Amino acid sequence: MDASAQTIPASLLGWYDAHARALPWRSPPGEAPPDPYRVWLSEVMLQQTTVAAVIPYFEKFTARWPSVAALAAADEAEVMAAWAGLGYYSRARNLIACARAVAEAGGIFPDTEAGLRALPGLGAYTAAAVAAIAFGRRAAVVDANVERVVARLEALDRPLPQARARIREVVERITPEDRPGDFAQAMMDLGATVCTPRNPRCLLCPLAAVCKGRSLGAERFPVKPAKKAKPGRKGRAFWIERDGAVWLVRRAGRGMLGGMRALPDDGWSARDDGAAPPPLAGPWQGGGSVRHTFTHFHLDLQLMLYSGSDWARLDPQDGEWWPVERIGEAGLPTLFAKAATRARGEK
Ligand code: SF4
Repeated sequence: MDASAQTIPASLLGWYDAHARALPWRSPPGEAPPDPYRVWLSEVMLQQTTVAAVIPYFEKFTARWPSVAALAAADEAEVMAAWAGLGYYSRARNLIACARAVAEAGGIFPDTEAGLRALPGLGAYTAAAVAAIAFGRRAAVVDANVERVVARLEALDRPLPQARARIREVVERITPEDRPGDFAQAMMDLGATVCTPRNPRCLLCPLAAVCKGRSLGAERFPVKPAKKAKPGRKGRAFWIERDGAVWLVRRAGRGMLGGMRALPDDGWSARDDGAAPPPLAGPWQGGGSVRHTFTHFHLDLQLMLYSGSDWARLDPQDGEWWPVERIGEAGLPTLFAKAATRARGEK
């Protein structure tokens, strides 16, 4: 056994003995485990739900249905009504199905992780938690709090979905034979009260001495998944200048930057294939390019400067001549304002 597999449980259980949260479904540290029914009920209720929200529901349920047999015999509509407000209602339906399965099997919960896992609605996490907390089985109990604590303890440099197998390995390694239920609850409590998502209180942490993430900046862990790279688009905008004025158009009302004054362009906003625009014939010369980032893509906009004089092709219904000196007053969106600055620099 490596050193951390010995020191972590000892340090953590020592801390838990002094700092365990008192919760209505728990036994105090080191004492006989609670009724499996209460452990199971609390774990189902706690899925996706905060401790504070669960407590009144747990008390209401256990007062009204104090045993798994009582819950199994309950009217389904009444259970659903009692669950109202706790959300994720499939949990309530599974709760009734599971209670009835346990009642049919003699009213006793299976005492192993595998046996629990076979019950309706019990996933890997709940089966492990009930096995450890109610039956003292050595089981790797990994919830979101535990994932965060372990990602920090080990300074795992992979984001969560990929790091999960490693986190499970670590939890399996450090879970002790002795008091595995208290150990699981201690890990949860550490994550909930000390190794919190923001501003973890490392100075108070019983695992600080063995934590690899602490000195690297605990909040970096778990590492966030890399943002998906934005796709790129390519387009052209046209700078057509005559006698100190530039030709501006009004963009179509429904498209991107709709209704705004702009340089004429080649319709890049309707093309999302990233392809380069086709070669341009006629009296045009390159004026450099500007890059702009929209919410969903980057745009490389190539600027083309008109060097001809075929003004008759410009339809006054489509646009207007705007004094170049007053281009700042045209209300151009940032992309075209950048392009205009570039064009003026090129001229
Ligand atoms: S030392 Fe800090 S980061 Fe490491 S486990 Fe403790 S609270 Fe979390």
